[in-house]
Amino acid sequence: MRRSRGREVKILSLAAFFIIALLSMVELPQFADGGAEFYAFDVGQGDAALFRFPDGSNMLVDAGPRKSAESLVAKLRRAGVRRIDILVATHPHEDHIGGMELVLRSFPVGKVWDSGYNHGSGVQRSMLALVRDLGIRYGRPRPGFKEEHGGATVEVIAPIAPISGAESDANNNSIVLLVSYGEVSFLMMGDMEEAGRRAVENFPAAAILKAAHHGSRNGTDRRLLEQTRPLTAILTYGSGNSYGHPHGEVRELLGEFGVKSYATADGDITIRIEGDTYRVSQERAR
Ligand SMILES: [Zn+2]
Repeated sequence: MRRSRGREVKILSLAAFFIIALLSMVELPQFADGGAEFYAFDVGQGDAALFRFPDGSNMLVDAGPRKSAESLVAKLRRAGVRRIDILVATHPHEDHIGGMELVLRSFPVGKVWDSGYNHGSGVQRSMLALVRDLGIRYGRPRPGFKEEHGGATVEVIAPIAPISGAESDANNNSIVLLVSYGEVSFLMMGDMEEAGRRAVENFPAAAILKAAHHGSRNGTDRRLLEQTRPLTAILTYGSGNSYGHPHGEVRELLGEFGVKSYATADGDITIRIEGDTYRVSQERAR
């Protein structure tokens, strides 16, 4: 009797040990080895990109269109996201902020960064109202603003000054971010077109370019590639989209500069940063 109770206690304490070990594994920062991860999700025609920083914090840059919101939330959960520390709305078009409502209702959000451009659309109004109702910190970070997350740096590059009278003011006022980790940098261009780019004197060098405006000819030009000198380009578009994205000129230009391109239309893209190198992998959708 005494012996079997002793065994029971032992088994129970062993089980408790494993449960505690499992729980503490879950609670540990995601990357004990100090790496970081980037995802560009296939959300059809639209943008949604996630940074998982070495300290376990997360930044989501855009949330895709409303119609892919449920699949985006599922993908974020699969990537291990339980909380979003920075939620960035690069600009208020539906293909970037349509999924915000479900994201805001699905995860605790630390703060929202917005371009400050007022599009006056219903989807933007309801997003801003929800941010306010949930009491989430909200800000319009200015160029030069920098923040560190476990050794990774997030820096705001644009918009330099409010742009009006351009072909698309919403696109041209996009928040542009440089995310750097060691030698590896990402330039996240939002949907910025030529007028917005002209206001930026010098784009920083970056190994990875999230090309602006879904690979549109107004999103990427020779000057940008000369300044940035990317090795890898991420093109975010839905296959068979009605805009003809990506445009042939952009594909040619990227080819001329020797840039290897990946398209979200082919599936979710993951980039794992290890030390001063990175590895791109893609989960083929079809
Ligand atoms: Zn867009």
